[in-house]
Amino acid sequence: MGMLCSVIKFENLHELKRLCHWGPIIALSVIAICSAMAIIDAVLWYWPLDTTGGSINFIMLINWTVMILYNYFNAMFVGPGYVPRGWTPENSQDCMYLQYCKVCQSYKAPRSHHCRKCNRCVMKMDHHCPWINNCCGFQNHASFTLFLLLAPLGCIHAAFIFVMTMYTQLYNRISFGWSSVRIDMSVARRDPHPIIPFGLSAFAASLFALGLALGTTIAVGMLFAIQMKVILRNKTSIESWIEEKAKDRIQYYQTRETFVFPYDLGSKLDNFKQVFTWSGIPEGDGLEWPVLEGAHQYSLTIEQLKQKADKRVRSVRYRAIEDYSGACCPFTKGLRTFFTTPCTEEPRIALSKGDLILATRGLKHWMYGDKITDLTTDVKKPHAARLGLKPLRDSSSQFEIVLDHQGIIS
Ligand SMILES: [Zn+2]
Ligand SMILES: [Zn+2]
Repeated sequence: MGMLCSVIKFENLHELKRLCHWGPIIALSVIAICSAMAIIDAVLWYWPLDTTGGSINFIMLINWTVMILYNYFNAMFVGPGYVPRGWTPENSQDCMYLQYCKVCQSYKAPRSHHCRKCNRCVMKMDHHCPWINNCCGFQNHASFTLFLLLAPLGCIHAAFIFVMTMYTQLYNRISFGWSSVRIDMSVARRDPHPIIPFGLSAFAASLFALGLALGTTIAVGMLFAIQMKVILRNKTSIESWIEEKAKDRIQYYQTRETFVFPYDLGSKLDNFKQVFTWSGIPEGDGLEWPVLEGAHQYSLTIEQLKQKADKRVRSVRYRAIEDYSGACCPFTKGLRTFFTTPCTEEPRIALSKGDLILATRGLKHWMYGDKITDLTTDVKKPHAARLGLKPLRDSSSQFEIVLDHQGIIS
């Protein structure tokens, strides 16, 4: 059991289908290109294997690749851990503090959220990550974060190799002339560095790999910083957002409440140890969590219920004035709508003229809300769905509704 052997467990084989998605395909391609190019550049053109430095460099490059892939596949195949179907809290009275998930037919355990992509309630859900085509949550938070740390480190090493290879090769070419045959004969004998002269295609490939490596370092490095920030506070990205909304809500109603995030154990080391352990298996069972002294076991879920009720009160009804097919890129709705389409792959809500929409949150061009299907109940449970809308010039109550479904919390 546990993370270390889960990758190779037979029952996980069906999980291989997770690879068939643009996220893992792109991520694995980048890893393959950067690793292969770094190894080829080092061995052939920059740091030959028959030198001590070259061998150590080679082993380190292989090591990065293995560690990166190990954590990547662990994050992908071990997954976040799901709330068991039909789960109820031990004490049935505690149900009043929890939301019920109709899809999973279970109560949402504290810190869990229903993921629409995974179609399950995910324990301590952080976010659904398209790059691993899985959710990041309780069980894979550590391997996911380790991947985010190792990938930029490996990329920095690879980038160093690319730069040094291109520099050495260019320097030799400029010093010894552009005739590759002559360089081959003269340089290879005098100097152990460049064994084989660099061709133009090798130069172009190294330059391309350098671009990928630097891009990955910056993008993934930023994600790592964000993850560490929340982990050291024993939070998830979703919980930071809930905390923000709690402040908003309290400010809006000017009540004297204060919301204290209950899971922050106070010490960064203690928080860190909740996620990272030597065994690779995180602390706890993913359903019950240690809380601060004085905090209620369900402080956070109670706040979530308040926010949900508040969302219902503050939501606004709209009526669709045009049909919309639910297409991701609405070509037929004019250029302005097309260009303000959010870059998300979430499914959109198809609408027919006259449909009622309950919008719970509005942005400049987009809205979160849900289609009201049951006309007898005015306030149906609003999912976090995203609707795109374009206000019409002389109408304050009617909007041309265009898009979607949000995918994470409801
Ligand atoms: Zn669920
Ligand atoms: Zn998910």
